[in-house]
Amino acid sequence: MALFNVPMHGHVMPTLAVVRELVDRGHRVSYAVTAEFADSVREAGATPVLYEVPPAGEAPEDMAEGVTQAVGVNVMALPQLEQAFAGDVPDLVLADVYAWAGPLLAARWKVPAVQLAPTHIPYEGLVEEFFGLEDISQIPGFTELSGELAHFGVPGGVHALTLAPPRTVAFFPRSFQRRPETVRAGAAHWVGPAIADRSFQGSWNRPADDKPVVYVSLGSQFNRRPDFYRACLEAFDGSGWHVVMSVGAEVAAAGLGEVREGVEVHASVPQLDVLASASVFVTHGGMGSLMEAFSLGVPVVVVPQMAEQRVNAARVEELGVGRYLPREQATAQALREAVQVVAGDGRIAARVAELRQQIREAGGAAAAVDVVEKVLADAPVVTG
Ligand code: UDP
Repeated sequence: MALFNVPMHGHVMPTLAVVRELVDRGHRVSYAVTAEFADSVREAGATPVLYEVPPAGEAPEDMAEGVTQAVGVNVMALPQLEQAFAGDVPDLVLADVYAWAGPLLAARWKVPAVQLAPTHIPYEGLVEEFFGLEDISQIPGFTELSGELAHFGVPGGVHALTLAPPRTVAFFPRSFQRRPETVRAGAAHWVGPAIADRSFQGSWNRPADDKPVVYVSLGSQFNRRPDFYRACLEAFDGSGWHVVMSVGAEVAAAGLGEVREGVEVHASVPQLDVLASASVFVTHGGMGSLMEAFSLGVPVVVVPQMAEQRVNAARVEELGVGRYLPREQATAQALREAVQVVAGDGRIAARVAELRQQIREAGGAAAAVDVVEKVLADAPVVTG
């Protein structure tokens, strides 16, 4: 099997447990990604197949711009990967939603492809809600992607490629999907988060006191927000909370000024360890972080930083598993109040417990690999 991905944490992390499960079931997995992720994929049991692209700067909040950058990565990676796999064509391709090199090469090799979705499967209204556009082809980079599609002889253009993917395995339960009734029937499998061993991140233990823990993180992409972290520090100053903040390397290096006792500021933390002890998670609402929180039964206050996270935040409110606090309104006082409400609301706790159960039932990595093996078994045998 060959797995194709873009060099982004939120896209690579959710796939690692699937790699482990594939390898445990006896499949050989090659993983196309950049050097930054070579160790992670190797530890999961795959052979890294590395491509080179210029290092990415800060992720743009505008998703159309982000997708355009991802197209650039794929266009650069394609010839490198075509060459790398020339003598070792896989039987099946797995590809992240942004890793179009995967389906393009699958078409060339005439092997089946399974999409891995860390975010919502295309639903009616996604183009408007994610990109603020009327039509997906208006994304600037998609002109270049169309050219590649033609070159690789893939029919249907960008509409088919991005809005009507083949078999998709989504890393969240169906109940979290935005407008699931409008998702193309039959092709979608919501297996929930596939959470892998994270011992390489080290460990974290709660302090000996019995203060409740509030965990604050804006994820790995949109985390250069010192003002927001200062608002959090002010919000919980002198309160009964023990505060753990993951602020990213840049803000951690610059520092946030003096920090009182009972507050920890880290560049990054082993998030699952912290969540296991947390009463509330103040998060940007990335799908990975949300699913990790709910699988450990932690309610959330979501302060989204871009369109996709605003969709997630709205979903959190609809499902009653936390609160949506728009970042323009995220003052110290609003943060303190939202955290108190979420921590103390029995209805929210009950809805989180329901979602936690749905996540358990969705099956995770094992369910994902069941789908992959079914696709492989159903694929026509290609000879020559
Ligand atoms: N993460 C972590 N430690 C940190 C901050 C984040 O391990 O200090 C992990 C987190 O557990 C999650 C991923 O980074 O798996 C972030 O993915 P998410 O989809 O939440 O957001 P993104 O970073 O893509 O915006």
